[in-house]
Amino acid sequence: MLKFTDITLPEPLLRAAAHLNYISPTPIQASTIPWLLENDGDLIALAQTGTGKTAAFGFPVLSQTDIEKPWVQTLILCPTRELCLQITNDFTDYARFMPRLKTAAVYGGASIQKQKDALKAGPQTVVGTPGRVLDMIKQGALKIEQISRLVLDEADEMLNMGFKDDLFEIMGHAPEDKQILLFSATTTREVTKLANTFLREPHRISEGNEQQGAENIQHFFYRVHARDKYLALKRIADMNPRIYGIVFCRTRIETQEIATKLQNDGYNADALHGDLSQGQRELVMNRFRSKYVQLLIATDVAARGLDVDDLSHIINYHLPTEPDVYIHRSGRTGRAGKSGVSISIIHPRESAALKAVEKRLNREIVYLPVPTGREICEKQLFNFIDTVERVEVATEEIESFLPNVYKKLGWMSREDLIQRFVSVEFNRFLSYYKESADLNQATQRHSPRDDQKVVFKTFRLAVGRRNGVTKRGLMTFINRLKIAPSIEIGNISIGEGHTLIELDSAHESRIMKAFARNNFNDEPLSPSLQASSRDDSPEREGKYSRKGSGSGREDSYSRSQGDKARGSRDRKFSKNSSDKPYIRSAKTKAPKGITTGKRDYSGPGKAPAKRKKTSAQDA
Ligand code: AMP
Repeated sequence: MLKFTDITLPEPLLRAAAHLNYISPTPIQASTIPWLLENDGDLIALAQTGTGKTAAFGFPVLSQTDIEKPWVQTLILCPTRELCLQITNDFTDYARFMPRLKTAAVYGGASIQKQKDALKAGPQTVVGTPGRVLDMIKQGALKIEQISRLVLDEADEMLNMGFKDDLFEIMGHAPEDKQILLFSATTTREVTKLANTFLREPHRISEGNEQQGAENIQHFFYRVHARDKYLALKRIADMNPRIYGIVFCRTRIETQEIATKLQNDGYNADALHGDLSQGQRELVMNRFRSKYVQLLIATDVAARGLDVDDLSHIINYHLPTEPDVYIHRSGRTGRAGKSGVSISIIHPRESAALKAVEKRLNREIVYLPVPTGREICEKQLFNFIDTVERVEVATEEIESFLPNVYKKLGWMSREDLIQRFVSVEFNRFLSYYKESADLNQATQRHSPRDDQKVVFKTFRLAVGRRNGVTKRGLMTFINRLKIAPSIEIGNISIGEGHTLIELDSAHESRIMKAFARNNFNDEPLSPSLQASSRDDSPEREGKYSRKGSGSGREDSYSRSQGDKARGSRDRKFSKNSSDKPYIRSAKTKAPKGITTGKRDYSGPGKAPAKRKKTSAQDA
């Protein structure tokens, strides 16, 4: 295996590499560094973020810098302030044993004067974002007439961000005979155009297949209804208690909404988007870097330049329209030889986009069912027990308290103690997920009525035979609720104290609201969604006769507007005192001590006064 010591780099750089614990060059470094040390032609290097590309150009640039010359010899352009600072810091690390080498950073959103002072100090290398660099050139603070090298880092992103004109103008100030090193994660048409305009017979290096993701990243997807994406996201977080990742959203508004919801639900999450001030941005990024924030909800643009090495997960809340963007996002995990997971939460209409990504990746994206409440509980329980096993016991500090504690708990058996200690953490937690719905896209069936596919979900009602529920009565009741002009009813199972009824999932939220607002024989229905397993049905029965058909045959039932009149005769159904869907008591607290907080119950629903027990379900 090639080692840094095998490359003829100047000794201070080899020392810096060793100091950084860079033993072997990464693939992009192995192919770029030796070539650049021996050639002064232009270069196009295709490399993902996190592949070690900064050192791939950084070591050669520094080794070819003449520290005797106090003028700018290399200009590095990059898309964002964060990346600019990152590269500047990396250069400071690489030049740790080159005391006379100076690097200055020039980026927007910060004091111009300080940056001008830094430029006056005679840096040999300048790293900057195109807009501010151009300003500095125009103000005469930055002179690039004598540069030997121009590095365009993340060229695709600079073009995506609309820096094309600035780049062209900057080029006009640079000398003809400079060397251009263009680094890009993707080869878009714009990148090719830029390269064709400014680079001369460039040498091309690509780290593996630039169109494919890294091998050490696993790709999974979950398929849920669009409205269940948030719940699926929470379950993914719950299933991965030590998750440290970025959730990519499409818009700033969505980013903020999801982050706020997650925070309200007790998760360590925050939003990163373009509406934040520079100060807020830095605060969020620092909290994320220090892992205080475990889930960063970000737009693609905002996440650029955020350099974090050990992300465990990338989550695509929506699939990006361009497969390249997917590859770029997922390239943020599995960095520097580590493994990573890229997850997409898709709804049925995103299936084609998923296929396009698979094709570009040349790999299967593996389907995973959204974990059930039980699976999550088990995972969290063992995570908690792991934490207990690994906790450092502050023997000295607690010593004086222990005799009393032992005395107080002395009457309990070991099993008792364990059970209680687990229950402290898990009673509420288990109840959160008890009866939680199956979020996976429900099973599909054909309606015999119109041969159109109807997706059913099973609703559980807290009334049964003992409350006078009959199939006919239930159908009449549903008729009266005016949920939709036409609603399919599948199987109905009536138990002693509860009923399971399958209804067209397209109307799920309206069904839930209607059930929550109305009582059956003065009894609240306490509706909840039932997981797809039907093993616990109190009674399995066939599909219902379609009302009004008169045929009496087993069929699905469709409610029509014509049924409205009949509903008014039925006096059994009284209005519930609560006018909000009962989801879960907002007062129910998330279990503490587990990474994340409140579970699937994001709804504002309040329990009706009569109800004592919460009925856990997904909102
Ligand atoms: P970059 O793509 O330049 O942002 O680098 C990604 C990460 O890989 C950074 O944290 C670097 O410090 C690290 N890195 C770069 N080159 C090496 C190397 N040869 N050995 C180990 N880590 C490296």
